Amino acid sequence: MKKVLFARTKVSAHWVGDGFPVRNFFSYSDIADQISPFLLMDYAGPKVFPPTEKRLGVGEHPHRGFETVTIVYSGEVEHRDSTGAGGTIGPGDVQWMTAASGIVHEEFHGREFAKRGGDFEMVQLWVNLPKTFKMNPPGYQEIKDQAIPAIQLPDGSGIVRIIAGNYQGDQGPARTFSPINLWDLKLNQGTNASIPLPDNETAVVFLMKGTVTVSGTETLTGPALCVLDPEGTELELNASNDARILFLGGKPLHEPIVGYGPFVMNTEAEIREAFQDYQSGKFGRT
Ligand code: MN
Repeated sequence: MKKVLFARTKVSAHWVGDGFPVRNFFSYSDIADQISPFLLMDYAGPKVFPPTEKRLGVGEHPHRGFETVTIVYSGEVEHRDSTGAGGTIGPGDVQWMTAASGIVHEEFHGREFAKRGGDFEMVQLWVNLPKTFKMNPPGYQEIKDQAIPAIQLPDGSGIVRIIAGNYQGDQGPARTFSPINLWDLKLNQGTNASIPLPDNETAVVFLMKGTVTVSGTETLTGPALCVLDPEGTELELNASNDARILFLGGKPLHEPIVGYGPFVMNTEAEIREAFQDYQSGKFGRT
């Protein structure tokens, strides 16, 4: 069984633009090794937004060297980027944007949702790219709810939705550049789920809602983050009430990380180059 290394319940909060009130549960600037290939996780909401005609969110900004993954639980997110991709995603949908060599994008609440108002809740992850893929062309995957396989856990303990990676032979739709498991789990009250996991890989449990005991030792009430020892082939989750979990797993990259603002590369020189390339317009426009 994978042992709990540490848990986090109290984290700092800030606004991203005027649309995303986030709590930052981890960042590569504080725990890079235990979370690789993930770089950052912001949990936005849950928050009720009143109806508005305003565009709430963040305008045009660049990224280079990694991917941003946005998972919507409530509300809608509208996106547009310099590759020409764009669209609106809602509850259950995922946006997997590969910034790679450079992208410029904007992220707002969906227009219809903003007019209606209501609950807003999402997670945004930054996923690192291996050195060899950082300067690949940018890309965009829109993954709708229906495209995500939902697998029943044994004994009616809940459901695993496979966004990326492989759960017991079922494959998630997201294309990734290194081995990643990203699963959205719903656990039912009073159940015990035993989740098989690859040995010697990163394993992080983000408990959004509910009270769950992880690996028999750490009882947490969401929102809370739990980082596990890579060693071991099983994760045990004991839900004392209905719970929602985002599981993040993957093969650590073991490569140097140098980041500044929206750019995450391997060296200082590459960061300087990113600023020059962006300022000279090489990333394009939305
Ligand atoms: Mn962004």
